[in-house]
Amino acid sequence: MPRNFYLYNTLTRTKELFKPIHEGRVGMYVCGPTVYGNAHLGHARPGITYDILFRLLRYLGYKVRYVRNITDVGHLENDADEGEDKIAKKARLEELEPMEVVQTYTLKYHEAMRRLGVLPPSIEPRASGHIIEQIALVQRILDAGYAYISNGSVYFDTGKYNEEHHYGALSGRNLDDIKTNTRTLDGQDEKRNSYDFALWKKAAPEHIMHWPSPWSEGFPGWHLECSAMSEKYLGEEFDIHGGGMDLMFPHHECELAQNVASRGTGGVHYWVHNNMITINGQKMGKSLGNFITLDELFTGTHPLLEQAYSPMTVRFFILQAHYRSTLDFSNEALQAAEKGLKRMMQARKDVEKLSATAGAPTLAEVARIEEAVLEALCDDLNTPNALSSMFEAVKLVNGIKDKTLSINPEDLARLQKLFRDVVTEILGLTDEQAEGGASHVIDGLMQMIIDIRKEAKAEKNWALSDKIRDELKAAGIQLKDTKDGCEWTLAE
Ligand code: ZN
Repeated sequence: MPRNFYLYNTLTRTKELFKPIHEGRVGMYVCGPTVYGNAHLGHARPGITYDILFRLLRYLGYKVRYVRNITDVGHLENDADEGEDKIAKKARLEELEPMEVVQTYTLKYHEAMRRLGVLPPSIEPRASGHIIEQIALVQRILDAGYAYISNGSVYFDTGKYNEEHHYGALSGRNLDDIKTNTRTLDGQDEKRNSYDFALWKKAAPEHIMHWPSPWSEGFPGWHLECSAMSEKYLGEEFDIHGGGMDLMFPHHECELAQNVASRGTGGVHYWVHNNMITINGQKMGKSLGNFITLDELFTGTHPLLEQAYSPMTVRFFILQAHYRSTLDFSNEALQAAEKGLKRMMQARKDVEKLSATAGAPTLAEVARIEEAVLEALCDDLNTPNALSSMFEAVKLVNGIKDKTLSINPEDLARLQKLFRDVVTEILGLTDEQAEGGASHVIDGLMQMIIDIRKEAKAEKNWALSDKIRDELKAAGIQLKDTKDGCEWTLAE
């Protein structure tokens, strides 16, 4: 029997037992970055949250198709369909092609995510690569009567939609609240109502990114791409849609409305939202001087930082809070995370080297901790509880290491598997000292070669043992025989 997994659904506002649409398979869509600037702290939390979800689902035995998009067109400076396209603006300021901006910051984002231990998604579609699908979707919404054309642009008819459906269902609003919170139209507007949103925008002459469409030479509205690309890669109905809480309104609300308007179903079974990171209690913002990029964080070069924090420290710090709680960023909290990570990773290393005592009594703690950890992770990704149970496992490891505890071979194998499964596979914490894991592999290979040479020597096969030594030397690896065995170093 697979373990029950509970996930909080923003739409129903309840924790629900997760049931995928297709047995054994999960479709998951997450809104990725708009690539017009350096990856920052605000990217780290969704990156890591949905990475944990992805890893956990795979651990639970699901085959997961994880789609995370790249927004490279259509995201305007403000949510009221006004201002310049964020990518185009950056291109203008830096005198670059928009796609140069996209390439630069996509590569930087990938590198930052890789360092944070975030696995790449299964598919990473770009908005600019799906203009045809987006135009077709606009046409379907027009055909269904939920949109209107105005001066070459197409707008979603929110009022009409709200007569039959609930616009605001996801973010828990109703149209009256939204009405009072949007500015009034000034008569120059193409929109019928301030709360209508753009599906297609006619490009102004100075606008550099535009495509032909039945309505005008223009570009898609920002919300459209996620409806079009999630449907293309995951189908009309799929399991999970994730993103930051800041995207819930208007982005996801509009996406949901577009789905219902075009295909008669919201399409998403579980809407998941991660909460935001604050810095010393304040929202992060460029104007507040507390906008920290991930590079600055990893190198300690922002004035607010007392030191550099490694990517795994940042990952561990984020895992110490539940993804639906706010998380406050401070030097103190990060330094505490650094210590906690060090303790956890030391135990992760030590557990592999422990020796078991045949016939030692069963250590009931091992099974209890294993159950508590998996229970926590399957309870809406409760990573802080999972970590605190793992620290009980750290105590066991240290006790066995100090020989104040003994463990039988079966329990030790179980404890080792727990560390491998949870720390490495699900939480994705790697030993940074070991340079991203590659040196583990090299260590293993070298040990194998050294063992073969030892056997050759024992059999007095001097020709083979010399050949191994000489060929390693030619490859730049020096073997040194000591009284404790054989050591290897890279030749200088
Ligand atoms: Zn999106």
